[in-house]
Parts: sequence; C-alpha cells; structure tokens
Amino acid sequence: MKQVLADEQAMAAFGAALAASVTEGGVIFLRGDLGMGKTTLSRGVLRGCGHTGSVKSPTYTLVEPYDTPSGPVFHFDLYRLSDPEELEYLGIRDYFTEQALCLIEWPDKGDGVLPSPDLEIQIELSGTGRSLLLTPVTQKGQAMVDNLSN
Ligand code: ADP
Ligand code: MG
Repeated sequence: MKQVLADEQAMAAFGAALAASVTEGGVIFLRGDLGMGKTTLSRGVLRGCGHTGSVKSPTYTLVEPYDTPSGPVFHFDLYRLSDPEELEYLGIRDYFTEQALCLIEWPDKGDGVLPSPDLEIQIELSGTGRSLLLTPVTQKGQAMVDNLSN
C-alpha cells in the first residue's frame, strides 16, 4: 500500500488513522532517512491512541513508554544505539507484549534482538511531501492495512 502525504498535518492525520487500524497492539518498523517524518508519524499515532501530552523524540532515551487510553505504546528511536545487545539491558523483551503497540525508528540498529515486525513503513521524499510504502509482514499487519484502506 502506498500513500503520498503532502505535509506534516497529513502525516499526523495518517498516524491517527493508523492508530485506529490497530486492533490488538503490534510491532511497526519505521524506515527512512533523518527528517523523513518518522517521529511526526509516531506523534500522530499517539494522538490517535488518545494521548494528549507531549511526544518527545526518544533519540537519547532510546524508548519512551506511553500509557494511552488505547493501551500501552512504546516509541523507540534506535539511531544512537551502538550495539543491539544494549537493548537487552533496557529489558525490551518486556515491552513486546500482545497488547502493546511498538513503533520503532531505525529498527536495523536492533537487528537480531528486536522481534520481527507486523508492519513495515518506508518513508521517502516526494516533492515537498513524503511517500509511504506500507508492507504487511504478518496477519496482524495485513489487518492494519485492510482497515486503513476501508
Ligand atoms: P524523523 O523522525 O524521520 O527524523 P521528523 O518526524 O522529526 O523526522 O520530521 C522531520 C521534518 O519533516 C519535520 O520538520 C516535519 O514537519 C517534516 N514532515 C513530516 N512529515 C511530512 C510530510 N508528509 N510532508 C512534508 N514534511 C513533513
Ligand atoms: Mg525521529
């Protein structure tokens, strides 16, 4: 599934729609260069989950947990992770429960330690906007994409 989103507002709105497409948590990998809008999309997802507070980029903390009205959300940014094993020390296995929604920026940095995703989203430049390619990996991910296109 491909989506072209013209600006930051469209990106945030799409994030909210993505949140609404989730039935029971899941793992979403967010790929794309710096400045492509991964954090903007994550912020939209959190808003869509009913989180009203601030959403900071977890660049230095690696992960920010949110207890939203729609359930637990963990927002990762692994850009600064030097070794996937560091994730073990963070106790990240506890984060990947059935009900939790995990949004992961720079998932390749956690290769070998992260679980496989339900959905992969690749973000690229498209003029002044962004194009998103959504690739479902599991049935859960397929359900998200199906719900999004309905
Ligand atoms: P990343 O987390 O991928 O590094 P950010 O979410 O921090 O990127 O966004 C970087 C910039 O891109 C922000 O200034 C944001 O306003 C802008 N942006 C986000 N989505 C879009 C879009 N669909 N079209 C144009 N600009 C966008
Ligand atoms: Mg970011």
